[in-house]
Amino acid sequence: MSATDKLLELDRQRVWHPYAPMPGTRAPLVVESASGVRLRLADGRELIDGMSSWWAAIHGYRHPVLDAAARDQLGRMSHVMFGGLTHEPAVALADRLVTLAPEGLEHAFLCDSGSVAVEVAVKMCLQYWRSRGKSAKTRLLTWRGGYHGDTFMAMSVCDPDGGMHRMWEGVLPRQVFAGLPPAGFAAGVDEAYAARLRRLIEEHAGELAAVIVEPVVQGAGGMRFHDPGYLRVLREACDSCGVLLVFDEIATGFGRTGALFAAGHAGVSPDVMCVGKALTGGYLTLAAALCTAEVAAGIGRGELPVLAHGPTFMGNPLACAVAGASLDVLLGDGAADGAPTYPRGWRAEVRRIEAALTAGLAPVAGQPGVADVRVLGAIGVVQLDREVDIAAATDAAAAAGVWLRPFRDLVYTMPPYVTGDADLAAVCAGIRAAVAASAR
Ligand SMILES: *Cc1c(COP(=O)(O)O)cnc(C)c1O
Repeated sequence: MSATDKLLELDRQRVWHPYAPMPGTRAPLVVESASGVRLRLADGRELIDGMSSWWAAIHGYRHPVLDAAARDQLGRMSHVMFGGLTHEPAVALADRLVTLAPEGLEHAFLCDSGSVAVEVAVKMCLQYWRSRGKSAKTRLLTWRGGYHGDTFMAMSVCDPDGGMHRMWEGVLPRQVFAGLPPAGFAAGVDEAYAARLRRLIEEHAGELAAVIVEPVVQGAGGMRFHDPGYLRVLREACDSCGVLLVFDEIATGFGRTGALFAAGHAGVSPDVMCVGKALTGGYLTLAAALCTAEVAAGIGRGELPVLAHGPTFMGNPLACAVAGASLDVLLGDGAADGAPTYPRGWRAEVRRIEAALTAGLAPVAGQPGVADVRVLGAIGVVQLDREVDIAAATDAAAAAGVWLRPFRDLVYTMPPYVTGDADLAAVCAGIRAAVAASAR
């Protein structure tokens, strides 16, 4: 038995993989190392990464600036508790996030994963109303087609039908769902839908703590895009009804949709905003819930004026230092001792990727089995008229030298921003191969 076969056998017996049975039924690929936009497999193959490790590795792997920041921080401390102690990497990161975030967000709660950031955001909203004597306001409203994480409160606002969380009916808190937002980034606002949204918020205002949505792009719930105008509809309705507004920018944050935060497409500020995924450039797990001064002050006026939340690894210095370096690279602030990664700025690179994906995926539209092709920023999606044959599609992409991880009826990519033109063309060819293998 080869070393790789032994590893895979142990993996099958011992290790639970995401959304997988135990023991596993399909052998994963063994990755030995990664560099730039390439994953190097144990069998010697190299695959171009079309997934940015689930939206996270925006600058690719082993980026010199991020590697140096990690090494430098390791030389000081990788972690200290955050209760009663603080440190420069966390303070600097919180300050920078507040500066970059939409107007009005003033404070940052640093936590260890996206799902936890969603839990913290919800706790902030519920506690805000409780502190103001409105303890009946405990429910959340969202639209269908969303994904907000796998912890129980986050699951309660995921799409109730399409998601994997349907089996938890009766366990999850029952939230208020509006219909799917009409599709299309530039489709304009459907007034009938907007009116239904407003009416639903009005009807439930007495029991709603917050509306929570993914702005502009719904990610793992179905890779759908909607018109940013709906964010303004939500902002106005929430303001007039006394309901808080939460934007989950965990997938959309840090440039992915062509704006630094997707809220920027609408010029709308939420009361609470979650970030994660690309925050550390995909190096370490870190997320944050940002809130307005009003939300913090409201909680502060309550009977128990503290936010009772404190993950063990809160504000992890190593993750915060790498997140700072990732922002340096993204914003071109870290180029003191070398050429910047994005000499023309990250926006130009995301636009370049958008053009390449648009051109490279156009031939797929209208092919048998293809229901829709859509591109926004550095996100390219092919939706089939049937479930993707995941094994066949993944194998076909890998044979074309590309790593893709389709789900449901979707073959999609969100490549690292450093992906060059030839590699983008290869990613598109990989998608075309995956689609062809699935439609067969
Ligand atoms: C991935 C994701 C989450 C959950 O983040 P984890 O770090 O996986 O817990 C929440 N919201 C959105 C929009 C996401 O894409």
